[in-house]
Amino acid sequence: MEKGSVFAMALEQLNSAAKLLKLDDNILRVLSHPERELTVSLPVVMDDGNIEVFTGHRVQHSSARGPCKGGIRYHQNVTLDEVKALSTWMTWKCAVVNIPYGGGKGGITVDPTKLSDNEIRRMTRRYTVAIMPIIGPHSDIPAPDVNTSSETMGWIMDTVSMMRGSTVLDIVTGKSVELGGSLGRREATGRGVMFNTIELLKRLDKDPKKTTVAVQGFGNVGSVSADLLSKEGCKIMAVSDVSGAYYNPNGLPIADMIAYCTTSKNRLLEGFSAAGISKISNEELLQLDVDVLVPAALEKQITIENAEKIKAYAIVEGANGPTTPDAERILIKKGKHVVPDILANSGGVVVSYFEWVQSIQSFFWTEEEVNKNLERVEVDAFDAVWTLAQREKQDLRNAAMMIAVDRVAKAVKARGIWP
Ligand code: NAD
Repeated sequence: MEKGSVFAMALEQLNSAAKLLKLDDNILRVLSHPERELTVSLPVVMDDGNIEVFTGHRVQHSSARGPCKGGIRYHQNVTLDEVKALSTWMTWKCAVVNIPYGGGKGGITVDPTKLSDNEIRRMTRRYTVAIMPIIGPHSDIPAPDVNTSSETMGWIMDTVSMMRGSTVLDIVTGKSVELGGSLGRREATGRGVMFNTIELLKRLDKDPKKTTVAVQGFGNVGSVSADLLSKEGCKIMAVSDVSGAYYNPNGLPIADMIAYCTTSKNRLLEGFSAAGISKISNEELLQLDVDVLVPAALEKQITIENAEKIKAYAIVEGANGPTTPDAERILIKKGKHVVPDILANSGGVVVSYFEWVQSIQSFFWTEEEVNKNLERVEVDAFDAVWTLAQREKQDLRNAAMMIAVDRVAKAVKARGIWP
């Protein structure tokens, strides 16, 4: 496996849960391999007439419990290894919240900030056709991830519909409401982060109104997490994006910062100013003296290099894979609580599931119904993980993984190995 492999990190977490579960080695071998990996070349005619060839992937880790489900990422650092890891985490995420999906993920190695909207649209349509043989409403359903949005999902849905000759709404989730998307989907991941944070604070007997928070990443997940936590009374002391980190010990005006990003270049906080705000580095944000840290950007942000310096007593993983296993061991040793990604950021896939159900039934729920159902799923899942962690004297990741891996392993066993 390549150096610094993210998939190796996912396997390490799986092996740890398998050991605790005394999982049959045969089943562990099955779960250690994604079912299907597809790599595609994407020639795109650029606006200047030249042809660029991008590389894309779609990986299906497991369909044991249902169709594969997972986002599509556009980022310059996307690799097959990363997509394999992300698809594996999706399997556990769907299992820990007990929705009938397996895990999948996709990505294109591209810096979309360097492309025009038309170039991104053409690339998206080409990618869709390239992965069409393996996606479908009952086999693999994509959704947004880093640098993709409801607009991207609309293009994917339209491309599949054009190729099939009829409208296929349930091919993706995270669509705009006009295209059969679910109310509350855009905010769902951040809302799930908020529910998980509040549940943790309750278990630790802490008052949200006396809680300080730092959020790394101010995209879909980070901005909504910051907004909803501030509405619960938490003081958001710092947020960041690729343009740097913004800090005010008295609390940041999150609603104004979100409004600023709707029109700013590349939706970044760059240039935002308000009384009392100073600029710090992303590394300083991670090490701030706050109660709760929400990493909501990318993988491997909390590593062996900085784990000792993290002061927050709670780390709620908005992003996928932000904490390396070595770093997590340090945090746990210091008595900190890490709410793992597969639980903390599961709100998005839960409402994706609600969207898929609504699309199939052509019967749509109110936003209040969506949010209420999401709260029930998230609170129940947190409670199951917390209770198991207490009973087995395990950290929250091991407990979440034990629940998830056990459910997937039982499904694999019940189906048997074909043929
Ligand atoms: P996004 O593209 O909307 O936002 C990503 C944010 O992170 C941007 O603000 C970007 O500037 C910032 N960022 C990137 N690198 C950074 C760095 N080194 N330091 C600080 N900020 C940095 O993406 P998103 O959808 O919010 O996804 C963020 C994370 O959450 C990813 O790990 C993703 O897999 C995970 N996630 C997303 C969803 C979803 O529904 N969108 C669901 C579950 C998990």
